[in-house]
Amino acid sequence: MKSPSSLQELIDALRCLPGVGPRAAQRMAYHLLQYDRAGAQRLGLALGNALQRIRRCSLCNTFSEEDVCALCLSPKRDQAQLCVVETPADLLMMEQTLAYGGRYFVLMGRLAPLDGIGPREIGLDVLRTRALDGVVKEVIVATNFTNEGEATAHYVGELLHGHGIKVSRIARGIPVGGELEFVDAGTLAQALVERREV
Ligand SMILES: [Zn+2]
Repeated sequence: MKSPSSLQELIDALRCLPGVGPRAAQRMAYHLLQYDRAGAQRLGLALGNALQRIRRCSLCNTFSEEDVCALCLSPKRDQAQLCVVETPADLLMMEQTLAYGGRYFVLMGRLAPLDGIGPREIGLDVLRTRALDGVVKEVIVATNFTNEGEATAHYVGELLHGHGIKVSRIARGIPVGGELEFVDAGTLAQALVERREV
């Protein structure tokens, strides 16, 4: 039996979520419509609101409802330290370690030359300007320990080399191929403490 078209559209739409295949999407759609219509309504509203309100901080690129995010505005954050992460989700992970008190720069991803993603596409020119503003003393590179994340870290090291600022890389407590988002906060905190200069 074929699903009604708006139901099929919902199933197809749910498949944009990471790790959700056709069967899982189907289960979710049927669940929402049968058992949790209030939840579905809430989900729809929250999605619409988030899409409308959330943009990127003009300083660090992370998600924000304002032009400059609360973290960048906070006088409590150490301006001399700048932590470079791949995504807003990675920033959140770093924050959850409670081990870091500096500021951030969120790349728009990572270098992936084969996919046409070069330094400019991930804002490395903007990062360079930010890092060399005279206030930043240390850049901590916390990109993922994947090939692309490592290549990006290496590039950032080269980019900032010889400008009198320290560039360090979080240590490997993170498994090879590991993505920050999926590492526990304790491991990540340790990797931050054991960071080494690059
Ligand atoms: Zn910000």
